[in-house]
Amino acid sequence: MSNETLRETLLFQPKHGYDRLDPAQKAEMESYCKDYAAFMDAAKTEREAVAFTVDMAEKAGFRPLQPGMTLKPGDRVYRNNRGKSIMLAVVGEKSLNDGVNICAAHIDSPRMDVKPNPLYEDSEIAYLKTHYYGGIKKYQWTTVPLAIHGVVYRRDGQLVNVTIGEDDNDPVLCVSDLLVHLSGDQMKKTLAEGISGEQLNVILGTIPLSGDDGADRVKLAVMNLLHEKYGMIEEDFLSAELTIVPAGKCREVGLDRSLLGAYGHDDRVCAYAALVPLLALGTPERTAVCVLADKEEIGSVGVSGMQSSCFETFVQDLCDSQGASLNRCFESAFCLSADVTNAFDPNFAETCDKRNNARLNYGVGVCKYTGSRGKGGASDASAEAMGYLRSLLDANGIQWQIATLGKVDQGGGGTVAAYMANRNIVTVDAGVPVLCMHAPWELVSKLDCYMTMKAMAAVYAGK
Ligand code: MN
Ligand code: MN
Repeated sequence: MSNETLRETLLFQPKHGYDRLDPAQKAEMESYCKDYAAFMDAAKTEREAVAFTVDMAEKAGFRPLQPGMTLKPGDRVYRNNRGKSIMLAVVGEKSLNDGVNICAAHIDSPRMDVKPNPLYEDSEIAYLKTHYYGGIKKYQWTTVPLAIHGVVYRRDGQLVNVTIGEDDNDPVLCVSDLLVHLSGDQMKKTLAEGISGEQLNVILGTIPLSGDDGADRVKLAVMNLLHEKYGMIEEDFLSAELTIVPAGKCREVGLDRSLLGAYGHDDRVCAYAALVPLLALGTPERTAVCVLADKEEIGSVGVSGMQSSCFETFVQDLCDSQGASLNRCFESAFCLSADVTNAFDPNFAETCDKRNNARLNYGVGVCKYTGSRGKGGASDASAEAMGYLRSLLDANGIQWQIATLGKVDQGGGGTVAAYMANRNIVTVDAGVPVLCMHAPWELVSKLDCYMTMKAMAAVYAGK
């Protein structure tokens, strides 16, 4: 054997995705990414993502799963969990006792939530107080155009949808930062301290109520605008879920248009990748399940998070339709925990182990474990599970790469993987590498988005 052959045969030498992408794949990738961008523009919150998903699912022949339903192979069902998370399934040829193939992603993203009593006026400026949700670098959320998305449950019991800042004719909102000229003290602070949580106050307006000499004239004028448009009174903020997110659309980035920039790729980029192939699925061998969960960014807690037994209830209902056992089903199931990973950023090379970090344009990042430091909080997939996924991806010609979240002692993160594994489900993490994760504007590569979607399709069709 020549040395060259030896090198090719024995050594792991990842190749650039674009050197392996054929023209037909390239066209399919561009078309997929165009649709993905439209999803991103329509679904900036978990509620909007669920509404979008229900609409797509209904069009693809899915119907709500009812307890006691009789299901046959090829049947397509979903369950809308209180408008905040959603589970979908395509019933397979095999019994539920033989397990299911799951792709689980999350549809919540870091943002600023509006506080329960948020509206105030200071120095004739009306503000909304916010409470950030998920891990953010607070300074990044000042001086960027912002929008409000959410719902208000009014005193009269009426639920009102609110979106301000996305239409070209809408105003946008903003959090101010200090002018550099007076930042002598601020600039000495750490990045974590430069802007505090209680400074993330959103400017709502500056014009006082005319013909009035009472207190808080600007606040009252702003409240009046909200009342005119949404019929709400100040107390209604208590029963509202209003979130402040970056305003604007998903855009192509780079002169070669190879990247997509958007708010909230984490983790809607994997959610969409999990959804699309499920909707297109025929009758799989094993039942295929797609979970789009809420609350991942704050620990997968709550009634709509991945720790909620809403998932057991859904799969139990599937099992009941054919007299199968939930425990047997979970025991034989496979789950791809579909969440983003970090893309190697040469500007911050010192934070990563380059040999084990995902790179842009090398395909879906497969992550044996997440967690922090000594793998704390990770589900740590077994060699068998990694072997299964690797063979599956290779057999389907899917570009994949190894992913870990930065240097061992640098930090870390988690996904829904541990909560699936705790249910006795074999689980592996995989997803799209992202630059500037959790920033108001995140970047991903189109090629990686496309390969992640292909990976999910392979998982649904597996054994
Ligand atoms: Mn995530
Ligand atoms: Mn995240």
